[in-house]
Amino acid sequence: MTVKTTVFGYPKIGPQRQLKKALESYWSGKISQKELAQEAEKLIINNAKTIVQHGIDIVPSNEFSLYDFILDLSIMFNVIPERFQNISNPMERYFAIARGTADAPASEMTKWFNTNYHYIVPEIEKTTGFELKENKPLKEYELLKNSLNLKTKPVLTGPFTYLYCAKVKDYAYFLDRIASVYMRLLKELEESDVEEVQIDEPAMVLDLENNTVQAIIDCYRKITAGLSKIKVYIQTYYESLSHYEKIVYELPVNGIGFDFVDGRENLDSISKFGFPNDKILIAGVVSGRDPWKTDFTETLKLIETLTKFTKNIILSNSCPLMHLPVTVKNESIPEEILRLLSFANERLEELTLLKTAINEGKEPPEQNLSIKFTNPEVRKKISQIDENALDRKQDFSERYEKQMEILRLPLFPTTTIGSFPQTAELRKVRADFKAGKISLEQYEEFINQEIKKAIEIQEQIGLDVLVHGEFERTDMVEFFAERLQGFAVTKNGWVQSYGSRCVRPPIIYGDVWRENPLIFKETLYAQSLTEKPVKGILTGPVTILQWSYPRKDISKKEVAYQIALALKEEVMELERAGIKIIQIDEPALREGMPLKKAKVDEYFDWAIKSFKIVTGAVKPETQIHTHMCYSEFNDIIEKIYAMDADVISIEASRSKGEILKAFEKFKYDRGIGIGVYDIHSPRVPTVEEMLEIVKRSIKLIDKRLFWINPDCGLKTRGWQETISSLKNMVKVAEIMRKEAKDV
Ligand code: GLN
Ligand code: ZN
Repeated sequence: MTVKTTVFGYPKIGPQRQLKKALESYWSGKISQKELAQEAEKLIINNAKTIVQHGIDIVPSNEFSLYDFILDLSIMFNVIPERFQNISNPMERYFAIARGTADAPASEMTKWFNTNYHYIVPEIEKTTGFELKENKPLKEYELLKNSLNLKTKPVLTGPFTYLYCAKVKDYAYFLDRIASVYMRLLKELEESDVEEVQIDEPAMVLDLENNTVQAIIDCYRKITAGLSKIKVYIQTYYESLSHYEKIVYELPVNGIGFDFVDGRENLDSISKFGFPNDKILIAGVVSGRDPWKTDFTETLKLIETLTKFTKNIILSNSCPLMHLPVTVKNESIPEEILRLLSFANERLEELTLLKTAINEGKEPPEQNLSIKFTNPEVRKKISQIDENALDRKQDFSERYEKQMEILRLPLFPTTTIGSFPQTAELRKVRADFKAGKISLEQYEEFINQEIKKAIEIQEQIGLDVLVHGEFERTDMVEFFAERLQGFAVTKNGWVQSYGSRCVRPPIIYGDVWRENPLIFKETLYAQSLTEKPVKGILTGPVTILQWSYPRKDISKKEVAYQIALALKEEVMELERAGIKIIQIDEPALREGMPLKKAKVDEYFDWAIKSFKIVTGAVKPETQIHTHMCYSEFNDIIEKIYAMDADVISIEASRSKGEILKAFEKFKYDRGIGIGVYDIHSPRVPTVEEMLEIVKRSIKLIDKRLFWINPDCGLKTRGWQETISSLKNMVKVAEIMRKEAKDV
């Protein structure tokens, strides 16, 4: 038997974050549209070259996007919200939808499955007519054919996943409507001699209803009806395929791809139902989302098992490689950890090695993948946790009353989520510090100045609960990873989060514990400057875990508990030092939720318990806040409630207050701040529009529990727009207080 290799979802940002730099230059008017397009072309060509050079047989195309691949599909299909239709320049319009303009708020952005990638939600209505306006996959195919003389495999998101991303309800109706544009698109590819195309359908791993499955199959029948020679492969990932038997046997396609890393149940399905002999099995065997080297022995065994069911196998990555940085080369992580890691380029090498092992019977190189970084004391503390004794000592209503008395807050207290603008100057000082050009004292002195400025500004604006501004943090997870034991951070391990925004996920390689204080100094300094309460803000255990690459030798639950214990020490110390409000951010709570319903309860059980490990032991007088954003919250509102935070600030403006629907069904009677404006856009929100959100909200939420805050942290914004926006926000609170008094 011989196998071929392919990959997909290769990181688009470029090894030096070229995309980020080009986008930001374009947005600030430093380069033209043409120059941006040229930069994009270079990236497309270079990425393809890298993949070829690593010996991959089937090279993907249409992997590039200027902002988001779901938005690209919307543009291609002419799904353009009305408020942007007056913008005639296509590129301007594209970024307007993604980022908003002075007149039109951006489309909603939300998390892509259980990952930290964010996509732009297509705005689809019953009457939306889909039209193929542009064939982007074909363009990129031709670009690579002409420039590298390379025939590639275009990759695009499929109709079902696209509609799932658009949050439509009636799949049968929309699948039927959208089939014809996919059909045209594929037909055009076929007519241009494209030999194979990959259609990603990760939504096929969700729990699907029978009639949805049937509608998907019907849709693909229509799409592929007129095709003769182009090969169509469906790729599923992040979990195991649902309705395996029906889909695998009935879907009229030439190949189906499976994730064998995060969807091990796929193997059970194959063993149980076999695999059709007229289809190719694309075996996702090297991980697209964890950075640990592939175990060759284990993987070759897996492939051998698969060959019992089919000999038509293409080796691939398990899920898009975009969740990994480009390469481990040039990283200065300690060798004992570095030797265990594979990023995107190393995945390409692994696939080639596996292929040679199979095709030529060559032994892959010896591996020693064992890792042991344990701390007996941490293990002991974990074993002593009493999971039934994590609750706070008093009920919410009792606690809240005490807290509000001590804090002396007005009705509709105003606050922000934590971070304030990270200016170019701040970034430069930080870079200088990291490069050893300035001393630690000089750096801390600068941070203190920033804190002081931020406190003054907040007092001037008239906010009620202040924050220190998080100037010491590059990133809300990386910062803690740098200070906690058991984590390694990378220098250049960037991964796209949304648009131009990239993060460097830390790597959890050993037991986690806290050796030194985390945010103690900054918080106390800020509190020393003001009479108003300053929140101590920490990233929560689930988010730190979710936005890092966890180790694989112990369970996620255990890692989360270890992080939680470390954070708890900090919380208790802050409380002892007189900090009255502590905020534990958990924006990734929802993202960590398993895609299969059967696994959800177990997840929330340990996720909520880890939050309680951090927060449960504080005095009733200490107010615990949490923050969440840019996810679907409606179906987990009860879980959020069960975390028993005194106040939650939650994003709502970008999803147009969708969360409010949840409160129609579920009475949320704890402190809550519904985000009143979208911080992803430089646009200054008007008093009226924020007032509208507040008024809508207090129909469902007790006004004595209502807080007013932006959607999320303000670190990506400029000071000017931040100040104007917050001033308007404070006006909203003033109006509301006045109205409350008048009635
Ligand atoms: N406290 C963080 C900030 O303000 C929260 C960020 C987030 O939710 N992503 O930046
Ligand atoms: Zn947030």
